[in-house]
Amino acid sequence: MATYRLNSMEVKKMNRNAIYRYLYHHESTSIQEIAQALNLSLPTVTQNLKELQERELVVETGLFESTGGRKAKAMACNSVAQYAVGLDITRNHVGIVMIDLSGKIVKNVRNHFPFANSEAYFKGVGELVEDFVQECEVDSSKILGVGIALPAILSDDRQTVSYATVIDFKGGSVRRFAEYIPYPCVLSNDANAAGFTELWGEKDIHNVVYLSLNNSVGGSFIVGNQIYAGQNHRGGEFGHMTIMPGGRTCYCGQKGCVDAYCSARILSDSTKGSISEFFRLLREGREPQKTIWEEYLGYLVVTINNLRMLYDCDVILGGYAGAYMEEYIDTLQELAARKNTFETDGKYLRVCKYKLEATAVGAALELVAEFIDSI
Ligand SMILES: [Zn+2]
Repeated sequence: MATYRLNSMEVKKMNRNAIYRYLYHHESTSIQEIAQALNLSLPTVTQNLKELQERELVVETGLFESTGGRKAKAMACNSVAQYAVGLDITRNHVGIVMIDLSGKIVKNVRNHFPFANSEAYFKGVGELVEDFVQECEVDSSKILGVGIALPAILSDDRQTVSYATVIDFKGGSVRRFAEYIPYPCVLSNDANAAGFTELWGEKDIHNVVYLSLNNSVGGSFIVGNQIYAGQNHRGGEFGHMTIMPGGRTCYCGQKGCVDAYCSARILSDSTKGSISEFFRLLREGREPQKTIWEEYLGYLVVTINNLRMLYDCDVILGGYAGAYMEEYIDTLQELAARKNTFETDGKYLRVCKYKLEATAVGAALELVAEFIDSI
């Protein structure tokens, strides 16, 4: 008897969760449509929707036009039932976003606040978060937590940092941040977070490679909608693949790494660190930007082709530099296709959808994903 009751509880939770997820992926839908799509009875759907409405997770949005008989109620997820905060910690900045349950950015700010492994720094980040939450005018009880993305490799339990050179935080712990942030905190790797954001809300794509072209190059490989972490949480560290034996020295100390050829810095060094200025001058056909870009493309395309050969799935260009590559995507696709052994078209390659704060959004989405799992 006990086993049976447990099973029926589990079934109930599974149904409720499936109904919520169905609504999550559809703008507005009727009880009948849900019942049909999920192969559930009308009373089951009605009962679950009632519970979800009581928890304010689902709302009625009106009535559907009907061709006779009673009009069907239109139901939708209440995306403002909860919120999550995401931080993008970089060497010199702290990006902060607030997102709702749909992943929409409510507000974002970027503060110049150089990383330091010190009490004053973590206290300062706590203050930035508190000020930001106040400016958003969101009730703190509605905040699921704070996702913190770091340019670092995390330990298995994601509580501590096992490797970091971009910021001085090796051996650091989530507790350093959590001490000054009055919400649950979780750590993410920056490129994994950005890749996670790109796949969010996609119904038909489940595997993707995300190549993050920031001041350091990183990436993530997402398979079956899950980040492939690897044995040591170093999966997707594309920046340290060797593309040139004995080549340029990478910040990691090795020679010929992708990072030394494809980091956003290679471009923005010619424009005092401004990537937008680089692409503005390039658009005008100026030198040395044109020559720098052509050389950069050569290395980038080799990297892209290697990723396609390894994973045989879509490759997304992201990071500061990737976000500007939309207008060059045809050229990039053509060059990638020319290198390819099996394909004559480079359509597998595209530019990131989130041009703004993809990393901070991804860190916040970790909390949203966890919340949706719990429904
Ligand atoms: Zn390297």
